[in-house]
Amino acid sequence: SKSPVTLLGLGAMGTALARAWLAAGHPLTVWNRTPEKAAPLVGEGARAAATPAEAVASATGPVVLCLLDDASVGEALDGTDLKGRAVVNLTTATPAQARRRARWVEERGARFLDGGIMAVPPMIGRPETGGYTFYSGDRVLFERHREVLEAATGVKFVGEDHGHAALHDIALLSAMTGMFAGIAHAFALVRPERDLDEAGFAALLADWLGAMAGMTHGMAAQLVSGDYTEGVTSNLAMMAAGNDALLATAAEQSVDPRLLTPYMELMRRRVAQGHGDEGLAGTVDLLTGG
Ligand code: NDP
Repeated sequence: SKSPVTLLGLGAMGTALARAWLAAGHPLTVWNRTPEKAAPLVGEGARAAATPAEAVASATGPVVLCLLDDASVGEALDGTDLKGRAVVNLTTATPAQARRRARWVEERGARFLDGGIMAVPPMIGRPETGGYTFYSGDRVLFERHREVLEAATGVKFVGEDHGHAALHDIALLSAMTGMFAGIAHAFALVRPERDLDEAGFAALLADWLGAMAGMTHGMAAQLVSGDYTEGVTSNLAMMAAGNDALLATAAEQSVDPRLLTPYMELMRRRVAQGHGDEGLAGTVDLLTGG
């Protein structure tokens, strides 16, 4: 028979997780601060607990949290008896918050596994969508409850440091933020052209970003070897010079260039330091003060 699951938090993500576990046949106990959100799930076979303390006390499988932020996790678990419990936290947090929360939970006699979900709610319980969750911390807990975790999304265990799932999660989200900034700039450039078709342009942009994403591997190879000229086909001096055309075009199209200029400034500084023959890896050093 399938492992029972206790879930605290029935927001958009928590509700999707609940449905995935019910669909996979896991007996499910749920709690949510606003109790009305539990009603439809009770209709689908879940049991609702009135308080987090009651939910945790009756848990015989993992206690999963999917709340707004780390502060809400502290509020929900405060006053619950965690002794002997397996706590899996799928609430987005910073690496330091995850490490502190792990210590806080372990001091209360429970085991702690942190997760960062790389999926949106419609991808939960649908492995074919490619959604997955980073896990780090207690490897024993991860292995023991793997079947439960895999009923929600694919899984990637990224080490025993409790902060590393959060770090991976936030690093990917940070890269995505920079990418969205570039996308916003690109749409702003083409938008004034009345005869330009946005949908057609979007297809070109998506393909281009996909093709350029592979550059990350070359950057990693350079960061590992320490030779930032390794495998360079587009050198920094050329790219930095090309930035003039990017900025001039922004001016021609009356587009605010400020989403691009901070990164261009790093490229310029690296060239000024005599590294025009490198690729982009040196900009990482400038960000970390190296
Ligand atoms: P929602 O805003 O839909 O839900 C937030 C949940 O947190 C609700 O259950 C809410 O309860 C609860 N909550 C908020 N504050 C408190 C508190 N002080 N005490 C107790 N419960 C509280 O968010 P999501 O479900 O979308 O997100 C949940 C987590 O999942 C977040 O950490 C988010 O970053 C992460 N995540 C979400 C993704 C998404 O696309 N939605 C993608 C990847 C990760 P109430 O119903 O009473 O308000």
